[in-house]
Amino acid sequence: MRYISTRGQAPALSFEEVVLTGLAPDGGLYVPETYPQMSKEEIADLAGLPYHEVAFRVMRPYVGDCIDETTLRDILKKTYASFNHDAVAPLKQLDNNHFLLELFHGPTLAFKDVALQLLGRLLDHFLIKRGERGVIMGATSGDTGSAAIEGCKPCEQVDIYILHPHNRVSEVQRRQMTCVLAPNVHNLAIEGDFDDCQAMVKASFGDQSFLNGQRLIAVNSINWARIMAQIVYYFTSAVALGSPHREVSFSVPSANFGDVFAGYVARKMGLPIKQLIVATNANDILHRTLHSNDFSKKKLEPTLAPSMDIVVSSNFERLLFDLYQQDGKAVAALLEDFQNQATQLDPKAWSKAQEVFASLAVDDATILKVITDAFKRTGELLDPHTATGYLAAEKCATDSSTPVITLATAHPAKFEEAIIKAGFPEGASLPEHMSDLLEREERYTLLPADLKAVQSHLAEVQSK
Ligand SMILES: *Cc1c(COP(=O)(O)O)cnc(C)c1O
Repeated sequence: MRYISTRGQAPALSFEEVVLTGLAPDGGLYVPETYPQMSKEEIADLAGLPYHEVAFRVMRPYVGDCIDETTLRDILKKTYASFNHDAVAPLKQLDNNHFLLELFHGPTLAFKDVALQLLGRLLDHFLIKRGERGVIMGATSGDTGSAAIEGCKPCEQVDIYILHPHNRVSEVQRRQMTCVLAPNVHNLAIEGDFDDCQAMVKASFGDQSFLNGQRLIAVNSINWARIMAQIVYYFTSAVALGSPHREVSFSVPSANFGDVFAGYVARKMGLPIKQLIVATNANDILHRTLHSNDFSKKKLEPTLAPSMDIVVSSNFERLLFDLYQQDGKAVAALLEDFQNQATQLDPKAWSKAQEVFASLAVDDATILKVITDAFKRTGELLDPHTATGYLAAEKCATDSSTPVITLATAHPAKFEEAIIKAGFPEGASLPEHMSDLLEREERYTLLPADLKAVQSHLAEVQSK
């Protein structure tokens, strides 16, 4: 399998190179040259298999000969053993034809674990093979940082530095990062805001000379391995409900479009998905684009579903490349236009998207109402991100005989504020294995929002 850039001007890479690379040199994102197909029989054969075995069969063609079969199986077994539920991604029935796919049984209680637990192990595998050390650097306002830290904790060849804005992330979110005491994990609390953290990470990727030749690696959502890992649960859940003999639809709380794009890829591979319903919060660029072909930026609005607070959806470019029939030049031109002004997709491309996508934007007041109502109707306490997906499923499903699966992207205990505001004053309790989180020892380094200070700290720690 070769990977090509969505802007058409970068050399094709192998899976190994793609995992170790962030953006393509032409500014594009890497995608597989073609999407592998699974026959009806191959999909039917997935029924009843353990999650890691389905993962193996779905990922095998993407990995190609970069990892031998025994090693890949071993990596996947270890990856998904880190989850706290034997099914990894269990499916719950909410009513006649509405199901909830719980993706929050990983170490940090959010769906990002599904991909980052794997990415850490893949990076380690390739770095060991090459005899290199890798340094991961990232900025976080909450969720991704802890999932990346948990994913890299078991790595031998990876050191991870996560910058978070000091006193500006919730205590649960901070502790999910700072209570990880592994020697290769470095939490930097920055005396500034999230934008300061992100700017310093960006500048460090731009000029890596401070690291004396060690490789700097990004684990943000554009890494192809993260998408690949997310394709798997579309297969496990659809097959559990009768695919390939039965169509299913999915409703996906969305921001950077990584999760729902994985569903689109599953459909391209042959999984009979009728609708992909994209749910957003008030930061609704995806909804505006898919619903009314209004492809334009809007000011960031902080919401009760903060992991979906974005201005631009980075992985949307991967969909564009497919809708534009792999015309990288056309994608590059559209995105350049988009940087400067409000724009629209080519009408043919947009109408192709209409065949599978539906969408809904959900504001904060509605999120609270959905949490309250869904609890009354189903007994499930939804986190605020999942609540957007729940409502979108109810509103956008076109055919009541096709089951809809809403992706539950986080555990409600991670987002107390919304739960309390929705009328549950005692909040949601943390699962058993995390109930002592607030008493655990923490470790982090406090640094000023100053690039030189951060880089010399990294250089000093890395030289030890
Ligand atoms: C990251 C995240 C999302 C959005 O996923 P994308 O792949 O960026 O679309 C939704 N819910 C939660 C809880 C998240 O952490």
